Amino acid sequence: MHSLVAIVGRPNVGKSTLFNRFVGAKKAIVLNTPGVTRDRNYGEARWAGPPFDVIDTGGFESGDTSSIVTQMREQALAAIEEADLVLFVVDGRAGVTPDDIEVAQLLRSSSCKSICAVNKIDGMQQEALMYEFYSLGLEHVLPVSAEHGRGVGELLEEIDEQLELSVHYTEEEEDTGETRIALLGRPNVGKSTLTNRLLGQDRMIVDSTAGTTRDAIDAPLVVDGERFLLIDTAGLRRKSNIRRWSSEGFSVMRTIRAIERCHVAVVLIDAEEGITDQDAKIIGLTHEKGRALVILVNKWDAIEKDHKTVDVYRDQIDLKLPFAGYAPILFTSGLTGQRVHKLIGLVKQVREHHLFRAPTGPLNRWLEEVVQRHHPPTHKQKRLRLYYVTQPRNAPPTLIFHCNHPDAVHLSYQRYLTNQFRDHFQLLGTPIKLVFRGKDNPYDPES
Ligand code: GDP
Ligand code: GDP
Repeated sequence: MHSLVAIVGRPNVGKSTLFNRFVGAKKAIVLNTPGVTRDRNYGEARWAGPPFDVIDTGGFESGDTSSIVTQMREQALAAIEEADLVLFVVDGRAGVTPDDIEVAQLLRSSSCKSICAVNKIDGMQQEALMYEFYSLGLEHVLPVSAEHGRGVGELLEEIDEQLELSVHYTEEEEDTGETRIALLGRPNVGKSTLTNRLLGQDRMIVDSTAGTTRDAIDAPLVVDGERFLLIDTAGLRRKSNIRRWSSEGFSVMRTIRAIERCHVAVVLIDAEEGITDQDAKIIGLTHEKGRALVILVNKWDAIEKDHKTVDVYRDQIDLKLPFAGYAPILFTSGLTGQRVHKLIGLVKQVREHHLFRAPTGPLNRWLEEVVQRHHPPTHKQKRLRLYYVTQPRNAPPTLIFHCNHPDAVHLSYQRYLTNQFRDHFQLLGTPIKLVFRGKDNPYDPES
């Protein structure tokens, strides 16, 4: 499981510039939210150690200064709760502000790891500006220039070092044989109601294995002798007791965390509201992370229906989520329990398909067939030839095509191969990854 680093700080201190240094603008996943001045970015970074995830908590809802300060404080609190490390960015040229002092206080009173990056220290002349920030009382204070890249290497070095001490970093989630399920979706879509329904059903026995910390947030289930784990149910149940977060920093980080930990993502969509951009973002993340996927159109009891309604939703999902066409869709009501009993069966099925491995013989016969049927088009003035294919990994199934021009595979042909593979081996609910490799021999005239 990747560690999560959250970047917090006042507007304009250079958070997103620093984020881009870490991740690169191209690879970032943009988590935009209506009403927010700037998009929030999320992506993967890597220095010398294992890769880690970075989230830039930058986008604030527009409003007066006091509301921005409130939001900044809330995002910092959410980061402290959810992230493995908080990267607190301050503006070296602006000096210490009261907001900085407040965030530093929050960091000091928590046990969360943190680093304070004093930004805009572009050259030697500005070095002295950073000393004032030692007054914040934080253990790790480093000067950087996000814009010029100065000190960014040292900062990444420090991040690596801090994360190495964190639990998530070294410990891959141990595979104890159960299928880990994350119930995801926007606030109020019905996740808690569904969780309670799932845990309360008679066919399911809530396993009462003695409580480690992990058991406290995850709910084990046994269905027909098979073991499942509902991830982070504490987050769902607890929310009614704690204050509501006005910023959505909390739920975004929580969602990322849960996706990172799950095998199967179950994403709930509100039938009353249809598919929103936020739903598409969540499903985009599960896709990106290669998790198996089931889509629930929930609150099915609450809408007027006729014989066409199911198709209307299916079409809408196809239209708005064209990349997730592999996901089975279930029309449910957590409130009445309608079709909820089908969910676990479906989860089991998509997990099986997620773990699918194609034997090399049949796989290459399949390749021959599909290439025969539809030759790769010439792309970038190169004629693509696919020599053979292997599947070295599953979860999700990952195909490696050995070919002459790995850079000349048209997107539409990749889509064709993916769909054909899925059809041929009858795979449901799992993304498929394709990798194209050139020949190793650099002197080969073909390559
Ligand atoms: P955010 O609101 O905290 O995400 O800040 P941005 O990354 O959008 O940066 C705000 C402004 O500060 C932009 O005009 C950047 O070009 C500038 N900036 C960012 N990093 C540096 C830096 O290292 N040095 C200087 N001089 N300016 C910077
Ligand atoms: P969460 O924020 O995603 O955990 O959503 P909750 O489970 O707390 O539900 C939010 C609201 O939607 C509550 O008022 C629920 O009673 C209601 N709700 C949840 N599931 C359903 C459903 O299947 N049908 C209807 N009509 N309402 C539901």
